[in-house]
Amino acid sequence: MAFTTRAAVHTQHGSPLTVTEITLPDPGPTDVLVELFASGICHSQLHLLHNPETPTPALMGHEATGKVIALGSQVSHVKEGQRVMLTWVPRDVTPETGRDRNAFRAAWEFEGKTNSGGIYTWAEHVLAHEQLVVPLDESVPTDVTAIVGCATVTGVGAVLGSAKVPAGATVAIFGVGGVGINAIAGAKIADAERIIAVDLSDEKLDFAKEFGATDTINASETDPVEAIVEMTSGGVDFAFDAIGYEVTMRQILNAVRPGVLGGGDRGGTAVLIGVPQTDATIDAKALLMGERNYIGSLGGTSHPMVDFKQYIEWYKQGALPLEKMISVKYDGLDSINEGVATLESGKISGRSIMIYKES
Ligand SMILES: [Zn+2]
Repeated sequence: MAFTTRAAVHTQHGSPLTVTEITLPDPGPTDVLVELFASGICHSQLHLLHNPETPTPALMGHEATGKVIALGSQVSHVKEGQRVMLTWVPRDVTPETGRDRNAFRAAWEFEGKTNSGGIYTWAEHVLAHEQLVVPLDESVPTDVTAIVGCATVTGVGAVLGSAKVPAGATVAIFGVGGVGINAIAGAKIADAERIIAVDLSDEKLDFAKEFGATDTINASETDPVEAIVEMTSGGVDFAFDAIGYEVTMRQILNAVRPGVLGGGDRGGTAVLIGVPQTDATIDAKALLMGERNYIGSLGGTSHPMVDFKQYIEWYKQGALPLEKMISVKYDGLDSINEGVATLESGKISGRSIMIYKES
C-alpha cells in the first residue's frame, strides 16, 4: 500500500522549496523505508537549487538519521526498527557493483507523477536504496549523527581516506564550513602537526580552532598562499579545498610544498573536496617542477559500512565532536527555507540540522 509523507520539493528554479505531500510506493526488493529523525542542511544542495538545469521536481538533502519501518526482500544488513544513517555514498560496493550509481535509486510520486532519484532527506520519510542506508549504533543521539552521511564522510574521509595524511604532516584547509571543520577534526585525529584554517570570516576561523586548527588565515586580508609558504618554510604537505571556487582550486596547489628533485621526495598534495562551480586554471609549472600532486576526493574515498562505525567510535571517544559542529537546530521540516536562506547568508558556523522527531 502506498505511503504518504511530507517532503520539501524543489518544484521550479528560483522558487522556495514547497513543503507538501509526496507518495512512496511499497519498498522494492532492494529498498528501505525510513522514518527520519534529523537531517543536515548541506551547502552543495544550494548549488543544485541555484542551477537552472537541475531537473524538477526534485527532492533534496543527503545526510540524515532515522529508523527502518519497512524493507524489501533482498535487504539483510538492517532490520525493522533499527536506527540508521542515510548517505549519498554507497555503503558496500565493489568497483564492479558500484560502477552504475544510477542503480541506487528509488521511486517517489508527486502530483500524480512517478519520479525516481537517489537519496533525499529533506522529508519526514525516505524510500532509499539499501546501499544508502547504514546501521547506526543504538547508544548515540540521533540528532548530531545526522551529519555523518555527508559532512563527516566528505571532510574526515578526504583527510584519512583520500589523502591518507600521516602523523606529523602539515595541513591547510581552505573553507571551514561543515565539511571544512570535519577535515580539521580528521587532521587532528591523524595527528597532523600543523593545521592551518583559511576562510574569509574571522568568526568561522575562531570556530575552526575548536576542532584543532593551530593557525588561521583570513584570506580577505592576507594572501593565503604567501602566508602558508612563509609559515611552513615552503608549503604544507597537504592542502584541501572544501569550497570549489576557481581561486581556491588554484591556491591549494601553490600552497603545498615542492618535492626534492633527485631526493626521491615528491611534492605535497592538493586535494579538491568542494564541488567545483567553474573550471579552474592551475599553475602547471608548479605541478611539474615541484612534483606536486593534485587529487579529487568524492565522499572521502570511503567505505561507509566500515568507516561510519569508526566515525561513531571517534564521536563516542570525543575525537569527533559532532555536537560542537552543529550550531543551529531547526524544529521540523517547515523550517527548511529559513535554513537554506541562513546558510546562504554565510551566517552558519559548522552545520545546521533540522529535527523532525525525537528518537
Ligand atoms: Zn553534502
